[in-house]
Amino acid sequence: MGSFGEMHANLVTRSDEVSIEKECNRSAIEFAVKDLLLGLGEDINREGIRKTPFRVAKAFSEGTRGYRQNVKDIIEGALFPESGLDTNKNGHGGGVGGLVIVRDIDLYSYCESCLLPFQIKCHIGYVPSSQRVVGLSKLPRVAEAFAKRLQEPQRLADEICSSLHQEIRPEGVAIILQCTHIPFPRDSNHKGWVKILVSSGLGVFENKNDEIWSDLFSLLKFRGIDKDKVGVLKCWCPSSKIEASDYSPIMVNAVSSIIKSLGEDPRRKELVETPSRFLKWLMNFQCVSNIDVEMNGYGDSFCNTNGEVKIYSEVSIPFWSQCEHHLLPFYGVVHIGYFLLERCDPVGKSLLQSIVHFYGFKLQVQERLTKQIAETVSQLVGGNVIVVVEASHTCMISRGIEKFGSNTATIAVLGSFSTDLEARTKFLESIPSATSFEGN
Ligand SMILES: [Zn+2]
Ligand SMILES: [Zn+2]
Repeated sequence: MGSFGEMHANLVTRSDEVSIEKECNRSAIEFAVKDLLLGLGEDINREGIRKTPFRVAKAFSEGTRGYRQNVKDIIEGALFPESGLDTNKNGHGGGVGGLVIVRDIDLYSYCESCLLPFQIKCHIGYVPSSQRVVGLSKLPRVAEAFAKRLQEPQRLADEICSSLHQEIRPEGVAIILQCTHIPFPRDSNHKGWVKILVSSGLGVFENKNDEIWSDLFSLLKFRGIDKDKVGVLKCWCPSSKIEASDYSPIMVNAVSSIIKSLGEDPRRKELVETPSRFLKWLMNFQCVSNIDVEMNGYGDSFCNTNGEVKIYSEVSIPFWSQCEHHLLPFYGVVHIGYFLLERCDPVGKSLLQSIVHFYGFKLQVQERLTKQIAETVSQLVGGNVIVVVEASHTCMISRGIEKFGSNTATIAVLGSFSTDLEARTKFLESIPSATSFEGN
């Protein structure tokens, strides 16, 4: 059954981890994703997106496997006696000072507010008691079991904390999470990635002013974590700041059906608005027939006569796009360089921005986006164009490459830029070292 592509995809599924009973309802998700693609005006048989429902369902299933995991099973058998811990002596952990920290655990979760993935750097501290310690590799696994669900940062921290406290029964547990959420177009409240630092503590960590928290933060300080920045950000998800429109009931139902298939209750208070918040994101990427970008008559003004040419550039134009293979966001900046006669006016920044947005706001792949921007600008300036797109892809998660913050650069070179190394180098060196668009 199935084409070679499907067979290949099945082969690479980690079958040892995803057994039949641990699957969510993937076929229901596939149907829902088809409805969403149709709602975007896409041809669901188009080569690039034919397998998208399959890929999205697979990613959702793996990304929410925490619903089908039991913390007791993870911890059981990993508690070891440690005779050094004498509960009758003073000090935390009964005499040995005892604070154990596992730092920099990279995790990914789905924002329950908008259904997009968010990145987490998790730090766990605990003080053993009852003469037993837990195998350290179990701590990240417990954290992951809660991260692989629809979540919100504070609840995630609280859930990891209370479950470790219950299963290990230590003197205390503390969780610190650094969470990062992709920005939304038209959200003026956030510039770049939305970041929040949350913490949760039980036992000797119950009181946030206790000295043991200072010990913990001291050990995390050189990781850029500042105790004073721990906060509760109301509505951290940028989707809540943008007004909803009327969305097609078929699409709303499709998103509800995905939520239900993952094992969640779409009527849960925090999830009631999630379908329309997800659509606030998704509807930015509706299929628009290839109308020409509003050129404002610019094409006429490009001079085709002889004269001195000069390199012009516009760097760091932000864009949003949606990977057509995984239906997940990628986000970053575009840098455009071109040759133009010295006495001609350079292309206005707003025109370049609208070209970038026109090609960004659709289901895309980064390589095609780069090429389309280059070709369109080329028509304006007479053919000599270089375009660099730098982006972070949230879909790296669904491909099992769990490096949310890693980014991809693509380059398109047209006309004299392809032969003129000096011009290419001059332009590439003018690109600022990118940090603003990165998730990290
Ligand atoms: Zn969100
Ligand atoms: Zn992708």
